[in-house]
Amino acid sequence: MKLKNCRLCGTDRLTQFLDLGYAPPADAFLTAERLSEPETYYPLRVLRCDECHFIQLDYVVPPDVLYTVDYPYESSMTRAGKAHFSRFAGSIVSRFGVTKDELAVDIGSNVGVLLGGFKEQGLRIQGVDPAANIAKIANAGGVPTIPQFFSADVARQILYDQGAARIITGTNVFAHIHDLTSLMQAVDGLLAPNGVFVVEAPYFVHLLEENEFDTIYHEHLSYISISPLIPFFRKCGFELIGVERHGIHGGSIRLFVGRLGAMPIEPSVDAFVREESAKSIYSLETLGRFSGRVEANRRALRHLLISLKDQGKRIAGVSAPAKGMTLLNYCGFGREILDFVTEKSHLKIGRYTPGRHIPVKPDSALIEEEINVALLLAWNFKEEIMENLSEFRKRGGQFIVPVPTPELI
Ligand SMILES: [Zn+2]
Repeated sequence: MKLKNCRLCGTDRLTQFLDLGYAPPADAFLTAERLSEPETYYPLRVLRCDECHFIQLDYVVPPDVLYTVDYPYESSMTRAGKAHFSRFAGSIVSRFGVTKDELAVDIGSNVGVLLGGFKEQGLRIQGVDPAANIAKIANAGGVPTIPQFFSADVARQILYDQGAARIITGTNVFAHIHDLTSLMQAVDGLLAPNGVFVVEAPYFVHLLEENEFDTIYHEHLSYISISPLIPFFRKCGFELIGVERHGIHGGSIRLFVGRLGAMPIEPSVDAFVREESAKSIYSLETLGRFSGRVEANRRALRHLLISLKDQGKRIAGVSAPAKGMTLLNYCGFGREILDFVTEKSHLKIGRYTPGRHIPVKPDSALIEEEINVALLLAWNFKEEIMENLSEFRKRGGQFIVPVPTPELI
């Protein structure tokens, strides 16, 4: 579905500033049998709302296409990720004086890493995640999880069974939801009067400054910044009461949202608005310069990889996150450049990348198949990955970090 109106303010005045071409859904890894079947490619273009300045994709792929029964992402995969969510739960509990036995609900709870942190703090927990296979893993691991999209109906069911939630979290889920007004209505139905809705999402300013164009893919419908959200939350009966920056996923923000007038607004909100304004992040000049840098990155990365191939090097991609699929499809890298990509998740190993059909193998293949250069597709975990691959490095292996500008290490 082409986006006709801004999802926050409703205007139809939307201006495109970036075009990454067409790509299949980034998590649609293919089995060998599926390779001979056609794949659907969707446009990947980014718009700025001319009224409220919210940044959003111009095409909404239906959620049932993106979040399939065998959705392959498990959030417990990396050590850095685990530690982050454990600290996250502890900081929310102390910041808002949450007491034992209060209810924490996580939207898009995946295998339950964040809720596990709240459980350690003594809270009651409830997960909601539409991917049936992931919800099953969560339930088996002691995190009760409803295998559905979070909706007003699901909110009512939780309210009826367990009472109002003191904390509702949505980490890396807010930007995935098309109808944010309905989301806020569902939150309204479940959140306690002194409750806090906590949103964590990649910060658009960081994407812009660090040239993280590969974090643009169909699941990320919106690119979150502060200024457009303030009037939106107010319109929904809520208020942005605080903002924090965090390191995961190369620059995220954490938003604290309370009911309108229920809690004091911290100075951080105004500080973010002023910084966004000072950096002119919403001007078409700034956004146009970003688009130029993205094209320059593609040219430089192509040049680097092709010259390595010309020297007879064997190259593989390391880890196969969704953003890696944007990079491979946008840059046009297939098996003529990358022998394979590696991945820890057993849900991806043995499959093929969407679009370019590069086989997915375990990390051990880097040494077994005498790879010379590893392209780091999950550059946000580059330290951890390079540490894990010390044996590869000892044998003379090199790494390429693709953004902000391609770098050979
Ligand atoms: Zn708007």
